[in-house]
Amino acid sequence: MKQKTRSFFGIGTRIATGFTVMLVLMASLVVIGLRHISETNTRLKDIVENNNVKTQLANTMQNALRERALSMHVLTVMNDPFDKDEELRRFDTLGAIYVTARQRLEGLPLSTEEEDILARIRVLTREAQPEVQAVVDTTMTTADTQDIFDRMRNIAIPKQREIAEEVSVLINLQKSLTASAVKNAEKSYRDVQELMFLLGASALALGLVITIFVSHRVSRQASQLSAQALYDPLTGLPNRNLLQDRLEQAIVQSRRSKQPFGIALMDLDRFKEVNDSLGHDVGDILLAEVGLRLKQAIRAEDTVARMGGDEFIIVLHNFSESDVPKFAEKILSAMNTPFVWDDQIIDLGLSMGFSLFPSHANDPSSLIRYADIAMYAAKKSGESYSLYTRAMESNNLADLTLKAELREAIQLNRLSLHYQPVIDQISKRAIGFEALVRWNHPERGFLPPDKFIPLAEEAGLISSLTEWVLKTALTQLAALHEQGYRLNISVNLSPRGLHDKELPGIIATQLMDIGIQAKYLTLEITESAVMSNPQNAFEILTTLDHMGVTLAIDDFGTGHSSLALLKKLPVDEIKIDKSFVMDMEENENDAVIVRSTIYLAHNLGLKVVAEGVETQESWDMLSLLGCDYSQGYFMSHPLSSEKLVEWLSKSVWFGETSTSSRASEISVN
Ligand code: C2E
Ligand code: CA
Ligand code: CA
Repeated sequence: MKQKTRSFFGIGTRIATGFTVMLVLMASLVVIGLRHISETNTRLKDIVENNNVKTQLANTMQNALRERALSMHVLTVMNDPFDKDEELRRFDTLGAIYVTARQRLEGLPLSTEEEDILARIRVLTREAQPEVQAVVDTTMTTADTQDIFDRMRNIAIPKQREIAEEVSVLINLQKSLTASAVKNAEKSYRDVQELMFLLGASALALGLVITIFVSHRVSRQASQLSAQALYDPLTGLPNRNLLQDRLEQAIVQSRRSKQPFGIALMDLDRFKEVNDSLGHDVGDILLAEVGLRLKQAIRAEDTVARMGGDEFIIVLHNFSESDVPKFAEKILSAMNTPFVWDDQIIDLGLSMGFSLFPSHANDPSSLIRYADIAMYAAKKSGESYSLYTRAMESNNLADLTLKAELREAIQLNRLSLHYQPVIDQISKRAIGFEALVRWNHPERGFLPPDKFIPLAEEAGLISSLTEWVLKTALTQLAALHEQGYRLNISVNLSPRGLHDKELPGIIATQLMDIGIQAKYLTLEITESAVMSNPQNAFEILTTLDHMGVTLAIDDFGTGHSSLALLKKLPVDEIKIDKSFVMDMEENENDAVIVRSTIYLAHNLGLKVVAEGVETQESWDMLSLLGCDYSQGYFMSHPLSSEKLVEWLSKSVWFGETSTSSRASEISVN
């Protein structure tokens, strides 16, 4: 957000700067234009004033010439000597006016053309002057008016006219000079005017461009904001808000087309553990990757949205009950490739719940709620997905009751343990038992652990349950030891137990109180429990190892733990998951897993236990592969504590002579 404000501010500054530069530019152009106009003005004023003066002088000359010609006429016809005298003075004055005007004209700055004209006038004047003077002089002395008149008409007047014509040329020249100066000035004004127009237009255009640019920018910001409101920034997927919209659309569409649709709600099974142990940054990367995989797995018309946290929802168009398994498999296989971070393989399981429109609900929030219930039901039953049924809701309620009853059962000792013998492959003798918890429910009878261990974890009862199992199993073992059966006992730790820092202390106290040496106790932990937080697991396992307890990795092969990582942990054994062992005769892949696990484990100095041995063939095959111990219905089902001693005394897997003890073997190692 901060980043955005800053970049927006940057744009604002840039626009303002650009605008200022443009304004300054325009202002300077206006100043230049105005100066140009004022210069043109002054120049024009100079020219016009100058020309006016010249024209005035030329006019004066012209008038004087005209008046003088007239005066000359008058003189020739006058008889009265007084009148003649006065007219003569007027004639002389006019001559003086003409000369003064001409001289003043000559004193002004002149063009060559003007100088040429004036030069010609001077010459003509010089030629005319004696003639004119002669005419005037004669009028004073002679009475022969006819002769005077003839001289005046034939010589003096034509000379005067020639001068007058030149003066006219001068006057016309002035006129045309003034006209062209005015024309130039007008052109200058027009240029400036055009420039101003241009500037105005470009300012307008600039304003327009800025407006378009800014509004484009603003609309982009707005669309970014709306994207933020509708899309999840981490995965780029639609968020809850947009999902709501899409669901409403889907409902409308489905009603119109009469085709049902469905939604799948999913969350990652171990995400919280990964997030806590590897950090939020890694968590974020994983979520983005999950989002990408989901998006790639769905059809273009379907929508995958992130609900928040590690929850995703997919809206599936034209989708009904029969499509559920196929779609679920598709999603699961998309998630099957393990996520790798920093050489660590992170195995994120995924649980999915489906609900359908219109058979389950007809509004978005109920659809989501039902998918959520279905997802929890799937988690509880250990399935990876399930479709909503009405019964699930009552199950939810049932869970709450069951939790309360379980709490009571632990307190009131209503749980019991069954013991399944662990057989040495070479001596074919039992070397110990695995303790498996049972709950004899007052109404429901014997409940298998898969039904209530997850409940115990959810209800925060798991540590007291583990404590109860340990105490009971060790007490049972102490009794066997007392009877001379030097056997071991294996106890299962729930994934959460492995992260309980108080566990080693509790175990140590129990061992001491009951009087069992640590080497007789094996703790089984699942690989996924280790993988979810390797660092934490490492600390607790190291403490337990120092105490002398045997550590086994249970259900090996179902997760994605690397043997390389296991090597760093202080574990002593691995238990190959029964799913591989049970199928290894038919399934070559499983056989390969069993064989290579035994081989690799031995290379790392680990003992191998095979679970789920149900047939003689399996037993034989495991012997051949060099498996160390095995467990399974073929040798014995889990036994109640009452049947235990009986079994020990009668079974072919345990005779009086047997002295083989895994503990002693391990201590030899
Ligand atoms: P697990 O640790 O893998 O235990 C082995 C399970 O396989 C047992 O189921 C056992 O009865 C069954 N089994 C043994 N041999 C065979 C065979 O040949 N074929 C087949 N199909 N199954 C065989 P059970 O007792 O129902 O336990 C299920 C799971 O519950 C255990 O799996 C373990 O993870 C958990 N569990 C049992 N007891 C406890 C306990 O005291 N504490 C905790 N935290 N978990 C427990
Ligand atoms: Ca086990
Ligand atoms: Ca197991």
